[in-house]
Amino acid sequence: MVELLLASGNPNKIIELRPVFLPDFQLCSLAEHALKDDHTEDGATFHENSASKALYYSRLTDLPVVADDSGLIIDALNGLPGVRSARYPGADMPYPDRCRHILNQMREKTADHQRSARFICVASVARNGKLLGQTEGIVEGRISLSPQGEQGFGYDPIFFHPPSGCTFAQLSLEEKNRLSHRFRAFSALISQLDSFLNR
Ligand code: IMP
Repeated sequence: MVELLLASGNPNKIIELRPVFLPDFQLCSLAEHALKDDHTEDGATFHENSASKALYYSRLTDLPVVADDSGLIIDALNGLPGVRSARYPGADMPYPDRCRHILNQMREKTADHQRSARFICVASVARNGKLLGQTEGIVEGRISLSPQGEQGFGYDPIFFHPPSGCTFAQLSLEEKNRLSHRFRAFSALISQLDSFLNR
């Protein structure tokens, strides 16, 4: 089985993604390779951030490295929180407060078509300082009128997913992980991984 390093210090991400890579690829964590989660995300796009994370760690190991960058894009807020999703509107704000802040900013936009939003994830693979491939996963939805649900994390309680008829936070983790932007981006990456790795 081919071993890949996941460039993320988030323990939930490796739990979410390990089964997606099996049976052909074994994901290992930064901690398993005694690497620190010390890469800063300061790019202007999801593609840049995802690539720079994969490239950074690919210079510290001989393993192929996979990374992602993801976030929420809200049309009525001109694309915010976007690449700033992890630190919008302030770095240390708890997510329930961030969600309330967004709902407040959108309180006058009550029609469904004014609340369109999408989660995006860009996955990258790099090896020895060279970017080998990138894929994108998107899930369309809209911002709910109030937070709903207790599952998931981040902006899940305010992201209404029309095909499911509920917010991401009202889905079980298994359900969400099978339709998420991350699942889509990494499934696309995996389906091309042999050619990206030149195997
Ligand atoms: P990262 O690229 O995985 O670090 O995600 C950046 C930020 O985007 C997270 O801190 C969340 O604010 C937001 N985000 C990304 N994916 C999700 C998701 O599936 N649900 C809710 N929020 C998300």
